[in-house]
Amino acid sequence: MTQDKVSEVYGSLVFTDADMRKRLPKPTYQELRRVIKENKPIDLDIANEVAHAMKEWALEKGATHFTHWFQPLNGITSEKHDSFITPQGDGEVLMAFSGKELVQGESDASSFPNGGLRATFEARGYTVWDPITPPFIKDEVLCIPTAFISYTGEALDKKTPLLRSEVALEKQAKRVLALFGWNPKRVITNVGPEQEYFLIKESDFEARTDLRLTGRTLFGAPPSKGQELEEHYFGAIRPSVNAFMKELDDELWRLAIPAKTKHNEVAPCQHELAPIYEAGSLAIDDNLLTMEKLKLLATNYGLACLEHERPFEYVNGSGKHDNWSLSADGRNLLEPGPHPEDNLQFLLFLAFLVAAVDEHADLMRMSVASAGNDHRLGANEAPPAIVSVFLGDALTPVVEALIRKEHAEAHEGEIMELGVPALPDILRDNTDRNRTSPFAFTGNKFEFRMCGSQQNLSDPNTVLNTAVAEQCERFCDYVEARKDEDFIVVAMRFIRHTFRDHRRIIFDGNGYSAEWEAEAERRGLPNLKTTPDALPALISEKSIAMFEKYHVLSEAELHARYVAKAEQYAKLINIEANVMVHMANHLYIPALVSYSGDLATTVATKAELGIAAKAERDLVARITEGTTSVYQLAQDLDAKNADARTIADPTERDRAYCDVVLPAMNTLRAAVDEMETICSKDCWPVPSYNDMLFYV
Ligand code: ADP
Ligand code: MG
Repeated sequence: MTQDKVSEVYGSLVFTDADMRKRLPKPTYQELRRVIKENKPIDLDIANEVAHAMKEWALEKGATHFTHWFQPLNGITSEKHDSFITPQGDGEVLMAFSGKELVQGESDASSFPNGGLRATFEARGYTVWDPITPPFIKDEVLCIPTAFISYTGEALDKKTPLLRSEVALEKQAKRVLALFGWNPKRVITNVGPEQEYFLIKESDFEARTDLRLTGRTLFGAPPSKGQELEEHYFGAIRPSVNAFMKELDDELWRLAIPAKTKHNEVAPCQHELAPIYEAGSLAIDDNLLTMEKLKLLATNYGLACLEHERPFEYVNGSGKHDNWSLSADGRNLLEPGPHPEDNLQFLLFLAFLVAAVDEHADLMRMSVASAGNDHRLGANEAPPAIVSVFLGDALTPVVEALIRKEHAEAHEGEIMELGVPALPDILRDNTDRNRTSPFAFTGNKFEFRMCGSQQNLSDPNTVLNTAVAEQCERFCDYVEARKDEDFIVVAMRFIRHTFRDHRRIIFDGNGYSAEWEAEAERRGLPNLKTTPDALPALISEKSIAMFEKYHVLSEAELHARYVAKAEQYAKLINIEANVMVHMANHLYIPALVSYSGDLATTVATKAELGIAAKAERDLVARITEGTTSVYQLAQDLDAKNADARTIADPTERDRAYCDVVLPAMNTLRAAVDEMETICSKDCWPVPSYNDMLFYV
């Protein structure tokens, strides 16, 4: 696309605020803006006018259907298309779309994961228009971003709690800023999700039952070459991938998704796409759309896009970095300013983040827990399962100095003494990077690196927003109780105490090292290695108290989410185990039997001729033995999986999947992979790692 073309088509498939202003009568537009800003229910007359304008716009763009687009608890987006057609009875047809259809839809909640909320309440679920993300057109369908709630108002999706957490954070952050004498109109989060993915040949993908059904390879001997030459990272992009990336950019830009950076990643066939950050929930919607487009468009180039956290053993897996900051009327609160007072504010928000992550380290870990991500965290290529905060060479000494001054009487001059005014310059040049840190300060934002590549970022952001809101409120209470004291003195003391109390979470060293694991244990930091270890944090007393206090999630909603997540984990591993047994019985064992049979015939024939055929004999014996192992291990896995399935309690069931089924899967895999290394390529029923990872 040429430069002119880009600016012409950018956002052309999105019903933007400008479109709305152009197409609506002024009073209607103003009323709509007010309602959106104040988060009020929309009047039906206004909704009718907006729906009409939206439909006219969509028809001009060739749309024939509309859908309420939402994010059920399994994290994937859902849609059900309704056409605009309204037959008139005389063979004529009108294209209609009412305000009621815009603001609310009905959907059968029982068909989506709901963790039992459906049993307690009503099966009916409603999708409710979320006017924060603008509607867009996808494949001739007008998509209306919505929240998904039950008949009685419980959240059944990922978006509702995210929006609630944004409301809570905005409210509390505004209280903090008011203490600085600043009353901004809006305080919002900014989120920039960096998305990693793999691209392989579609023909290889189709030939692998495991990839098609589970998104990852459940078998596969190590490739002869891995990523050790480090030639792929930032390397030249192969032509088919380049063509794909170009079309992807074009498509994303039409949807006003600000795709910015694309490059090859560390593992062979691995790539990354980073957009320019946007307001929290919008950025997450756009990331979900990006993930959908990645998969769809790859097929136009004979490629398959793998978004799983660990599609291949032996090379890196894929994550999604959640770059997060907070801004008030466009000013980044994590950016140190030119004046000492601004730096006081900066240090305060920094302290909030450190304290929030320390107090809810278990919840942060929980928010990224999934069967897929378990293969990545702690594998010495992604952050460990231990949450810690990296502040870097420039900030750590400042924080340490603050902590050391613990007992000193704070006075205004102290800010100068600490050298805080020099912060901006140091930070700007601070290119210090620590790729091993799960939660790193990178200049003017935090980067949460534990998120999985196929994950919906709503969960981690909901946790983070709420935890930071809690810290903001704590500060306001602290100041309120010390009304008679000087604000700067009080704020400095709060900052110092906060860093002192949460110092244990700050770690700038190598997160992959064994020493860190031991050190973290001494510091009392949670080390939740697997999803079943991590999930209970969601329903701890501490978690329930926080989420209820900020009206983000009720106890019933949290329990439902816990059950949904626990079920999801068990279901995924059950499917993986099923696929492994299936592949063993239907692909590998027949291949092994046939190959060793051929070899045996050869051995017999050669023996008749008086030829020893030592290698063939040896191979027949090894493969026959290996076949027996594979056969037995497949039966063993099948039995263990069947046992795990019968466990009714979701927590116990997950434990069985983690402790019994997964190890049985690993053993079966090892037996099959060993056979792959000694069998003929011709007899092997699926493409190998060498084929898949190093295609031309
Ligand atoms: P990195 O520091 O990881 O090499 P970038 O600086 O390019 O990469 O940023 C990575 C992502 O962080 C991008 O999506 C970018 O838009 C986003 N980002 C940059 N600044 C902020 C910010 N203040 N708040 C949130 N996200 C941001
Ligand atoms: Mg990054």
